[in-house]
Amino acid sequence: MVLSAAGIRFPIWAQAGTSVAGAGRLLLGVDYYPDQTPEALWEEDSRMMAEVGFTNVRIAEFAWALMEPAEGKFDFAWLRRAVEILHKHNISVILGTPSAAPPPWLMVRYPDVVEVNAQGERLHPGGRRFTCPTNQVYRRLSLSIANAMAREFADTTGVIGWQIDNELTLSSSQRCYCNFCQAGFQAWLRSKYGSLDNLNKSWGTVFWSQTYTDFSQIPVPLPSGGDPNPGLALDYDRYQSYANVSFQEEQLVMLRKTCPHHFVTTNNVGLPLDTIDLRSLYEKLDFVAFDNYPGFFEMLLHQEANGPISPDTIPANIALGHDFARSIKGGKPFMIMEEQSGKAGQRTFSPQPEKGQVRLWTHQAVAHGAMGVNYFRWDTATFGAEEYWHGILNHDRSKSPGYVEIKQAVGELKALGPEVLNSNYAADAALVFDYDCSWAVKIQPGHHALSYMAQVTSWYGAISASHTGIDVIAPGADLAPYKIVFAPVVYVLSEAQASKIKSFVQGGGMFVTNFRLGVKTESSQIVRTPLPGPLRDVMGVTVADYVPIYSAKQGVKFSSAFAGPDGQCGIWADILQPSGAEVLGSYTSGEHAGEAAITMNSFGKGKAVYIGADLDAGSLSRVLRTLSATSGVKQPFDVPPGVELTVRKSGDKQWIFLLNHTSVAQTVSIPKPLTDLLTKEAYSGTIELRGYGVRVLS
Ligand SMILES: [Zn+2]
Repeated sequence: MVLSAAGIRFPIWAQAGTSVAGAGRLLLGVDYYPDQTPEALWEEDSRMMAEVGFTNVRIAEFAWALMEPAEGKFDFAWLRRAVEILHKHNISVILGTPSAAPPPWLMVRYPDVVEVNAQGERLHPGGRRFTCPTNQVYRRLSLSIANAMAREFADTTGVIGWQIDNELTLSSSQRCYCNFCQAGFQAWLRSKYGSLDNLNKSWGTVFWSQTYTDFSQIPVPLPSGGDPNPGLALDYDRYQSYANVSFQEEQLVMLRKTCPHHFVTTNNVGLPLDTIDLRSLYEKLDFVAFDNYPGFFEMLLHQEANGPISPDTIPANIALGHDFARSIKGGKPFMIMEEQSGKAGQRTFSPQPEKGQVRLWTHQAVAHGAMGVNYFRWDTATFGAEEYWHGILNHDRSKSPGYVEIKQAVGELKALGPEVLNSNYAADAALVFDYDCSWAVKIQPGHHALSYMAQVTSWYGAISASHTGIDVIAPGADLAPYKIVFAPVVYVLSEAQASKIKSFVQGGGMFVTNFRLGVKTESSQIVRTPLPGPLRDVMGVTVADYVPIYSAKQGVKFSSAFAGPDGQCGIWADILQPSGAEVLGSYTSGEHAGEAAITMNSFGKGKAVYIGADLDAGSLSRVLRTLSATSGVKQPFDVPPGVELTVRKSGDKQWIFLLNHTSVAQTVSIPKPLTDLLTKEAYSGTIELRGYGVRVLS
């Protein structure tokens, strides 16, 4: 019911009308490794999983060596026994194809399949994810094991779907630069450009004597004497993304044919870490699935910042990932394939989830549009590279601190029922995320501290603090459903996107953007017109100059529209010359004192806002929240800092999620009497949330 109503391929197990795993077709499960667990424990594990209330497991995604101990010799007997025992306890199975971890025999026989990193060094066997996405031999062998699995389990009762591979590109090297990829890149370029004349013009290869007279001469962007051509480098990112997507699609085509009754997806690590265009990756899959590790993010960001990070950062980062996952398929519910259940890490541990956080993260995912959650992992490995990655059972098989919370969350989601998991997420605001901009800024940031991802994250944090529903959309998306569209660092701007922005503003929408707008064409050439290129009329400004800032702090004085103290300009200043736009902020010192830093232009029935200065976090938040309010976007009611408010709707029904991301109790004033659907208690006036507490209100 949940899957079909969400527009997702309807598997036979759901059509049959029988309750799968006793849970009415919900996907509330756990990632399980029978391949790493003594067979004598499978029965006990399955019984305990059923006690938690789990409906499904994901298994086998790293078990290639056991399933194909020698080339072409398959052994699925152990896996079949595991599936049968799980099914006996009403636990359904999502099977993972194992191409993320090839067995040692394969590496000895086919050593050329290894990935080559950005320094031109070959990776080595011994870990995982060290193979090339282009290599035809590796593709053939990956397809062969996946095909053997599919034929074995196509009609096996209890098997419901597939996860292809595991976390594509999450490797020590995010791109492969091997000879096979070079040949693949050349073929891809031939198809894209048709002729060398087109390619040479598009990249401007006359610079540094790089004119190509044969496609076979085109290199990959490995270290050279000076940086690569920006057009070549951007196309290489696009090619590598394509190569991974097409690697996956070979398995998908086979699974569709062999297992027409099963759903197919893959898991990825979500927006901040990913290097593949996930919109392409999930285009032909049934639903988006991704892995959610808030504590792991905290550990990584702590390392980057070399110290503690702002407490708001993690909840906003995670919410951004959820909103992106939901938006990839136009609002269709997504699944968390791996949800953090304890400390996580390989060499070091992430922070221990505090009491209540695992349950909170579960409800946060549902609040943003998840239809299912699988926790990582059932038991904690006592061997291998992820001994530190804690599961629901500890090393000694005692129940972890997360066990009770997960059991509670699973019970709560079952009690809420499939309707909420199938409801819509209402968004009046959109944030544009563009892979071209992300990759092009990484290739030429302009300022060493400019990060597209950091800009998107800080904008999302500022906007989401208004508790406004936000979709995270592609540059070519339809803007008409939104009142306000935010688009930071639109460094690469196509004519088509510019035209959509123009129509949106003309029709009455508010478009908000910032510095480095419209600098480059899709070929990564800088436009020959004054900036902001094709959007000069919409924005009502010309960029008189652009200034990377390294030393003296530049101030910004706001007009009454953004009443408040002066702001600070960080690493970048676009100096704006209005040609019709109203000035809402000016630079306060230095050569450009008094010149425009922020402008708003009336265009058609709408407004276009240009934030030329890289504003400090407080000023950016004030500006974006003021603009949101001006655009007519409303939040249901005020909540204290650290509390998140989201709404899912279905017809006349709505579910209001209150999520306390702080460790202390919070009191929220509610505008009308509401009932907590988890406790059935009725409230009016105010409602209490304990530290890391959750309320689902109606
Ligand atoms: Zn390669």
